[in-house]
Amino acid sequence: MPELPEVETTLRGVMPHINNKKISGIVIRQSQLRWPVSPELPANILNQKIRSGARRGKYLLFNIAQGHLLIHLGMSGSLRVVNATEPPLFHDHIDLQFGTISLRYSDPRRFGCWLWIGGKPEEHKLLKALGPEPLTENFYADYLWQKSRGRHKTLKEFIMDNHVVVGVGNIYANESLFMAGIKPIRKAGTLTKKEAALWVEKIRFVLQRSIDQGGTTLRDFVGGDGKPGYFQQQLLVYGRGDQPCVNCAKPLKEIRLGGRSTVYCVHCQT
Ligand SMILES: [Zn+2]
Repeated sequence: MPELPEVETTLRGVMPHINNKKISGIVIRQSQLRWPVSPELPANILNQKIRSGARRGKYLLFNIAQGHLLIHLGMSGSLRVVNATEPPLFHDHIDLQFGTISLRYSDPRRFGCWLWIGGKPEEHKLLKALGPEPLTENFYADYLWQKSRGRHKTLKEFIMDNHVVVGVGNIYANESLFMAGIKPIRKAGTLTKKEAALWVEKIRFVLQRSIDQGGTTLRDFVGGDGKPGYFQQQLLVYGRGDQPCVNCAKPLKEIRLGGRSTVYCVHCQT
């Protein structure tokens, strides 16, 4: 699943090719994504320039004329820049054409979306309830600590809740909890101020490192320049159930929390 770093990498990868360029065509081969592609989308964006691009959580926002094109990559979506004449593959559902090049959207599982937002994007129903961006000053220890007061869900499920903070997916929740020495199964309300400070630091670290490396291991991700997005990360716990802990060498424990694989060290994480 594309996580925040992959989405950020996608944005950085495609923008130099499409920014300030006029959309000369749009080809929609499959409009049935998570939600149907906005019917008003083609008329609103055709012959308009991409003015800028941004990311909010795992949403991409392209500012075009009077509104925004909002794209989510879903479970398996990817965007890449291709030569417009390159024949589409089976899962290449949408092309945005910019003269001789196309921004091509592929999504085998079709959980992504392409929507038109005419008004302010921050007021759109998909975006307005989102928590702060983890790499900005709006995400800090005291905020996290306050937000966790009285919460009964586990710390891992708490941090993966987009209303708390956006973009801390399963890999990053596992890794940051290990680095901060915090057990994922504890109730969120037990978080101390000291732990909140360390956890915020580790969340920022793992996300930033991944962005710097250009994304994490993701089968379906294709970089904006066409290179596959396989980036080896030094994952300490994720995907390492029963393997030795890098600190104490005892086997890591793997359980499921909220349906997601959760790996931690019962000795090193308290
Ligand atoms: Zn350990």
